[in-house]
Amino acid sequence: ANAPTSNFLRAIVDHDLAAGTHVRPGLPPVITRFPPEPNGYLHIGHAKSICLNFGLARDYQGLCHLRFDDTNPAREEQEYVDTIIDSVKWLGFSWEQEGRNHLYFASDYFDQLYEMAEYLISAGFAYVDSQSAEDMAKNRGNFGTPGTNSPFRNRPAGESLAIFRDMKAGKYKDGEHILRAKVSEDAMAAPNMNLRDPAIYRIRHAHHHRTGDAWCIYPMYDYTHPISDALENITHSLCTLEFQDHRPFYDWLLATLAEGGFFRQPVPRQYEFARMNLTYVVTSKRKLRQLVDEKIVSGWDDPLMPTIVGLRRRGYTPESIQLFCERIGVSKADGWIDMSTLEGSLRDDLDPKAPRASAVLRPLKLVIDNFPDGQSVDCSAPVHPHLPELGNRSFPITKNLWIEQEDFMEVPSKGYFRLFPPSGDTPGSRVRLRFGYVIECTGFDKDADGKVIAVHANYFEDSKSGTEGANTYKVKGNIHWVSADAALAAEVRLYDRLFTDPNPDAGGKDFKLALNPNALEVITAYLEPGMKDAAGDQRFQFERHGYFVADRVDSTPGKPVFNRITTLKDSWAK
Ligand code: ATP
Ligand code: MG
Ligand code: MG
Repeated sequence: ANAPTSNFLRAIVDHDLAAGTHVRPGLPPVITRFPPEPNGYLHIGHAKSICLNFGLARDYQGLCHLRFDDTNPAREEQEYVDTIIDSVKWLGFSWEQEGRNHLYFASDYFDQLYEMAEYLISAGFAYVDSQSAEDMAKNRGNFGTPGTNSPFRNRPAGESLAIFRDMKAGKYKDGEHILRAKVSEDAMAAPNMNLRDPAIYRIRHAHHHRTGDAWCIYPMYDYTHPISDALENITHSLCTLEFQDHRPFYDWLLATLAEGGFFRQPVPRQYEFARMNLTYVVTSKRKLRQLVDEKIVSGWDDPLMPTIVGLRRRGYTPESIQLFCERIGVSKADGWIDMSTLEGSLRDDLDPKAPRASAVLRPLKLVIDNFPDGQSVDCSAPVHPHLPELGNRSFPITKNLWIEQEDFMEVPSKGYFRLFPPSGDTPGSRVRLRFGYVIECTGFDKDADGKVIAVHANYFEDSKSGTEGANTYKVKGNIHWVSADAALAAEVRLYDRLFTDPNPDAGGKDFKLALNPNALEVITAYLEPGMKDAAGDQRFQFERHGYFVADRVDSTPGKPVFNRITTLKDSWAK
């Protein structure tokens, strides 16, 4: 039942396996990698790439590396390395195999990357350009207009090499020189802008979170990425569509270095898939950072954030996110996935396994007038309706209860089967208090403002659920309740979507104008007493309301705080 759905990437892997494309001694025939830059927190878009790369490796008995693409010292920090490791693990994936830890850092390759750059210079495939940044930009030309060769393009290899070494030795300031690749003699006229003598090394006097001050030149992404893939024996290097135009350089670089003796064929191959766009969220790291910095959310792990840490705190399970990624599949064309698909995956994951609980979110007092004062009778309910092995939970029924405000109507509308009072010749309605007794509504109290503050009823002593007498009462309404004497009063955070606009940042719109003013409502709810033992990260279905989790940060022993993960039904569907 869990067989992965085929997609164009699996078709490629199947083909390569059949053709023996990547048969190498001692290595699995499928090695993928997930290559985050440690410059922010992972978000739901990254989950797609994680599930894809680790999922392919799992399904083909291969291996997936976690590699930090950490070549831009200005933006990267250890904090991000740590959270990314945590998030990928939490999603359920591992990069350890047969006792080996396949966790890599591009910065560990700085020596090799440098050595290959010297080779490219010596072999005439790279040169030091000393143009100003403005001239370089101008001479690059535009799409459709050929560029102009740099006056330094034909500088002797020995001269480029000497300057490059001095760049490394720290003799120049940022931007004074740059190392560029020379893919071909007429590359500056290439229709593909990425082939017009791309920069491969630049001077950056900046402290790196791992290599400290050892380097003041840093390799560019387009240079580092293919080489890192090749050094790690990656077979299928999967990236998002915007890198399609970078593939010719990827292929040229690895072929050139393979000819130079640095790598053996077959070298890794790059394949592109569509990035995931999810409605009602923003996934740009820059915009997520803005939400945090401007305190629109409480932090990266705010349950409203589409970050992995936020989704986790909100109550999403790793399984639901994996299921979601499996359902949306991979394609070669950009598109939008509706938020309801993610919420649906959560419901489908939790419905068969989440323990049930009674919770009254909008309380109204119910008094059973003929119930003896001070008496408490135990009621029992299954922890899960389809998992008898989970046993039963119990909670007391007493004279004073809490019910939902919406379960009483002073004047019932047509087809309303819950509580309403007697009127004229019509008796008050009869309903079953779920797992308790059948009651008949006898009246209600109002305060000075005309607001209903209590409902009155009588109970039938022989109607208790699970007893023989229960069957003789046929009622149409069935409502949940908790004992007002025994209930746990708990903080419950009713989360909704962060934005009201399905495409909050489309077309350059100001996404902050689309913030949902009702994204969070904090209430005190009354829960069945056993809920006081809920520990952080424990998830429940509050019957008739939705899925809730004990907040992993703010819950304390005996005093859980609950987050609504999602409602039982899609309330956003039109
Ligand atoms: P951002 O644009 O938010 O800064 P990024 O792509 O620059 O994201 P990286 O850390 O470089 O962030 O991403 C690591 C991997 O995750 C890359 O291979 C990237 O293609 C992939 N990825 C990022 N966002 C998405 C997305 N929305 N859908 C699918 N894959 C994604
Ligand atoms: Mg990136
Ligand atoms: Mg980016």
